[in-house]
Amino acid sequence: ESKIRIGIVGYGNLGKGAVAAIRQSPDMELVAIFTRREPESLNPDDPSIHVAHISEAAGYQDKIDVMVLCGGSAHDLPEQTPHFASMFNTVDSFDTHAKIPEFYQSVNETAAKNNTTAIISVGWDPGLFSINRVMADAILPNGENYTFWGKGLSQGHSDAVRRVSGVKNGVQYTIPADAAMEKVRSGENPELSTAEKHRRVCYIVPEEGADQAAIENEIKTMPNYFADYDTEVNFINEEELKRDHSKAPHGGFVIRGGNTGDGNKQIYEFSLKLDSNPEFTASVLVAYARAAHRMSLDKQYGAKTVYDIAPGYISPRSAEELRKDFL
Ligand code: NDP
Repeated sequence: ESKIRIGIVGYGNLGKGAVAAIRQSPDMELVAIFTRREPESLNPDDPSIHVAHISEAAGYQDKIDVMVLCGGSAHDLPEQTPHFASMFNTVDSFDTHAKIPEFYQSVNETAAKNNTTAIISVGWDPGLFSINRVMADAILPNGENYTFWGKGLSQGHSDAVRRVSGVKNGVQYTIPADAAMEKVRSGENPELSTAEKHRRVCYIVPEEGADQAAIENEIKTMPNYFADYDTEVNFINEEELKRDHSKAPHGGFVIRGGNTGDGNKQIYEFSLKLDSNPEFTASVLVAYARAAHRMSLDKQYGAKTVYDIAPGYISPRSAEELRKDFL
């Protein structure tokens, strides 16, 4: 059987993680990385990897089965996903939760019109966490869902702070509140405001002469990302950033406390502990690229979310093997 031919769009953290994930997938091959930068400037770890400019991608429609889109959610994917879904099957990790409905609509329009399969908002949240929220809610209708993130570095939020004007570099940590987690695990289904559940802590390297108060204000009032949270902004220098904040750990918890029968407590909990958020997220994207390829062969076109995709579609194993060894 021939390999699934993959292209990667965007060579940031996720793009590098996607290269590593494809290496661990014997049923796939990496055809090319596409970038907006000078292709010669990327220097991927394996010099035999083909790098092309993003403007050349249209010429690869017969050579690539699925494009793994690794751009940022804040500015890249709202343009890149509809653009690439008009030519290729795609997977992306769009994670601006509040904007997913309109993003879905714009991607679905181009994908349906051009007979491509575009799986949107894949990763762990949105992604695996979304699946578990739906499972828990369906199984325990009498209950409450809770999601806690961290402790960890959030790529989406770090990406967002780095795009604030006057910011040279920066990272953002999301920290769950222990007291809130314990209450939830005890099954008392407490009412918790967003700020009670998490704090957001930013470490920012400002550009020379930048107005720090303006940066702090723009971050703290950024809709969807920071406005609803207790946000702390710290200014540091590049050296400190490199020394103390260069790893990208993350993780989190989806917990539902529910009651069945005459009031038996049932706690549903799913968690992830990740050394590298981008490598894990890219691994999820690459597994779902398998699904995008298979679904397009089945003519299931249009935009899809993780809710539309049966687990068998993302597995490299046959249905027979899954029934025998994994049920
Ligand atoms: P990066 O900032 O590392 O990369 C985003 C884009 O920026 C790249 O595609 C690349 O495009 C460009 N870029 C990267 N490095 C450089 C550089 N040195 N100079 C100039 N341009 C550069 O973002 P991440 O890969 O860390 O994350 C991408 C998105 O993934 C996030 O915005 C987040 O929304 C999402 N995400 C989703 C998760 C989920 O669970 N659903 C979890 C984690 C992340 P190009 O090569 O074209 O220049």
